[in-house]
Amino acid sequence: MYPRAFQYHRAKSQSEAISLLSELGDDAKLLAGGQSLIPLMKLRLSTPGHLVDLNFIPDTSYIRRNGALTFGAMTRHAEIAASAEAMQIPILHDCAAGIADPQVRNLGTIGGSIAEADPTGDWAPVLLATGATVSTLGPDGARSIDIHDFILDAYTTTLQPAELITEIAVPLAAERSGGAYIALKRCAPVYANASVAVQLTIDDAHTCKDARIYLGVLGLTATRVSAAEDALRGQAVTKQRIETVRQAVMDIAQPNSDMRGTADYKRQAAGALAKLAVGAALRRARGEHVEVTHLYA
Ligand SMILES: Cc1cc2nc3c(=O)[nH]c(=O)nc-3n(C[C@H](O)[C@H](O)[C@H](O)COP(=O)(O)OP(=O)(O)OC[C@H]3O[C@@H](n4cnc5c(N)ncnc54)[C@H](O)[C@@H]3O)c2cc1C
Repeated sequence: MYPRAFQYHRAKSQSEAISLLSELGDDAKLLAGGQSLIPLMKLRLSTPGHLVDLNFIPDTSYIRRNGALTFGAMTRHAEIAASAEAMQIPILHDCAAGIADPQVRNLGTIGGSIAEADPTGDWAPVLLATGATVSTLGPDGARSIDIHDFILDAYTTTLQPAELITEIAVPLAAERSGGAYIALKRCAPVYANASVAVQLTIDDAHTCKDARIYLGVLGLTATRVSAAEDALRGQAVTKQRIETVRQAVMDIAQPNSDMRGTADYKRQAAGALAKLAVGAALRRARGEHVEVTHLYA
């Protein structure tokens, strides 16, 4: 289907984009990679009368290390997947490299993904597990928002009218930390059936000092699995401990049955992914180089 007719505005700066949004009101939408917005417009689930294009604003796509790892909102998934800097926090590479296919990764942006807050998106569980901060700019100035406070619900964020995301900052991982993000997918260009993000810090080769575990896809927002984190914290990460994590994940997951699989299938998948992700995160925390890829079934 063709989208509704719209007027196209090419913003030359973030302040011009904010002014345009303020002037045009609810009928205007920002255009980043277009990988969520354009399909929705073609289905006429989104019918903006104006698009404000962010793609020609200088210095909005970058990866910098300055106390944290910072990503300009317009940084493409593919740039993050190819970045040696991002590789230093391997869970970021797991996420970026596994999003859809090269076409989507070459256009889709980290800022657009977070703004969309699609419950099946990959970035939310990973940015929650790493404790990221979202910077925004709007008519009332700049804000810095903890990712936990930024995503409010499915497709709902704390972004105010005419406010845009400028940057996402991921804290540099503490020493002896490691993370992993693994999703189960039918094939590359589709969203996941279930996903798990794990970020661990260890005291010695076996004992977990801290853990953050989030499920993606299995609820309206990414789900924190506090019971699994508590089971690991201060404990040796043994096979039995990892089995406790698997059970805690399965207990909290609340998937729906749909065309991607039954609720029980997704719950079992989440438990199995959690085992794999904890294992990979632990090995990375020990300093091992571990390749992680999504599972396709
Ligand atoms: C076939 C296909 C498969 C996909 N599979 C996956 C997948 O497996 N995992 C996954 O995570 N994603 C997937 N995606 C989505 C993809 O990751 C998109 O890149 C992402 O959801 C949106 O980013 P975008 O830059 O394309 O944003 P757009 O589509 O341009 O924008 C999305 C929304 O965010 C708003 N917005 C954009 N940038 C900003 C900003 N800086 N500040 C405020 N608001 C902003 C827009 O106004 C719009 O409402 C898939 C997409 C397609 C087409």
